[in-house]
Formats: sequence, structure tokens, C-alpha cells
Amino acid sequence: MSEPEIRYRRILLKLSGEALMGDGDYGIDPAVISRLAQEIRDVSRAGVEVGVVIGGGNIFRGAGLADAGMDRVTGDHMGMLATVMNALAMQDALERLGVFARVMSAIRINEVCEDYIRRRAVRHLEKGRVVIFAAGTGNPFFTTDSAASLRAIEVSADVLLKATKVDGVYDADPKTNPQAVRYAHLSYDRVIADKLNVMDATAIVMCRDNGLPVRVFDVFEPGNLMRILRGGSEIGTLVDNGESA
Ligand code: UDP
Repeated sequence: MSEPEIRYRRILLKLSGEALMGDGDYGIDPAVISRLAQEIRDVSRAGVEVGVVIGGGNIFRGAGLADAGMDRVTGDHMGMLATVMNALAMQDALERLGVFARVMSAIRINEVCEDYIRRRAVRHLEKGRVVIFAAGTGNPFFTTDSAASLRAIEVSADVLLKATKVDGVYDADPKTNPQAVRYAHLSYDRVIADKLNVMDATAIVMCRDNGLPVRVFDVFEPGNLMRILRGGSEIGTLVDNGESA
């Protein structure tokens, strides 16, 4: 039997910084980033154009630094620079697998990566290069979830794939509550009204207002990314304008 056709031409994958930590509580686990890079390589080789936004929570978060007494804006600058380090690590992991990749930063840091210029980013994507969008939105008080929505909309991605450690959005924490039920399909408004743990409100509102579907899925299940692209509607939780029971 032939494989189902790929349903997305261009995707934006959001990886949190924590996804790179593995079992550690800080930094990057090389084996984990290499495995994630393999998943990205497989979809890129299948002809899908891939943009990636990586968070920085495995190194610094501005809010956490502010709680410890630091100026919030300085903390956010440090958080954004942390995403650049993660992006460089992902670029390296992809290149070691023979995948062409480019880090584009929202904060100018020319010696280590390209500046984010939308038209250039689109050109890289068209040429089959994986574009890793670093430094979030470039502004303090935002998150990399918002950066993921923004970049996905700017480059006209067909879907925002939000990678997590669990296979979708639940009505309770599945780790502590065995009765927790996974939502297969949610509306943006339900996510906002019920404060469901998908992305922060700014990010979800941006997706809603621009009709960008979001799928929350477990990136640690090998092959899941490719399965979604081949139409795996049973994987994770889809957030868009509709909603099923
Ligand atoms: N950040 C920011 N502006 C942005 C994106 C990120 O100031 O547009 C800072 C903020 O301090 C944030 C940190 O970078 O806490 C790391 O990003 P995030 O917490 O979104 O990472 P994740 O939770 O995805 O690992």
C-alpha cells in the first residue's frame, strides 16, 4: 500500500527549550537534540518546508530571573539570547545529518547567525533549508509561543505544530490523574475561555485572528511528526475554529 499523501506544504514547529533537556534539569542533551533533528530531517527530506522556533526555558526565562530580583527586561534579553544558543545547537545537529539549516535571529547578532528578514526566510524555505527562528519576537514581555505564531503567520505556514511531552491537551494533568481525558479537537475560544494549557493567550489569539491551525502533539513519540503530516488526525489535539465533542 502506498503512503498517504503529505497534507502540508510548509510547517512551523515550536519546540520548547525544555524539550532539549532530556532527563536533565538544565541545558541541552546532545542525544535528545539529535533525535529531534532526525524527525525534522525526515519531514524535510519528504519535501515539507520546515520552520522551527525554539524556546529558551532550559537555560533562562525572564520571568524567573525577575522573580530572583533581576530587571525583567534584562532577564528577557537573556532568555532571548538563550534561544539563540538552542537554535545554534539545532542547526549543528541538523547539519551533522546533512540537512541544510539557517538560524535567523530577531536580535541582530551577525557574527553567529543571520538576521531575521522575512523575504529571505521564505527564500530559504523555498530552497528546502530548515529555518530556525531565534531570539523570539526580539521584544521583552513576549514568549517563544508568540514568536511561533508570529513567524508561522508571516511565512504563511499551513499549520503550527506545538511539540510537547504529552500527546495533546487534557482536561486534567494526565501524569497525576489517570481519569484525564484528551481533547481531540478544540476551538481557539474554548482554549482561551478555559485557560487550557496550549500556548499563552497572546499566541492563541494571534492564531485565531489569522486562522492558523495549531496541533499539540508528543514529539518524543518517534515518527509522530511525519504521521501528522501524512494526515494523522488522531494524533494530539487540533485547535482551530471548530470543535468536536
Ligand atoms: N523571550 C522574550 N521575548 C520573546 C521570546 C522570548 O523576552 O519574544 C524571553 C523570555 O524571557 C522567555 C525566554 O525568552 O522566558 C525563553 O522563552 P520561552 O520561555 O518562551 O521558552 P520555552 O518555554 O519555549 O522554552
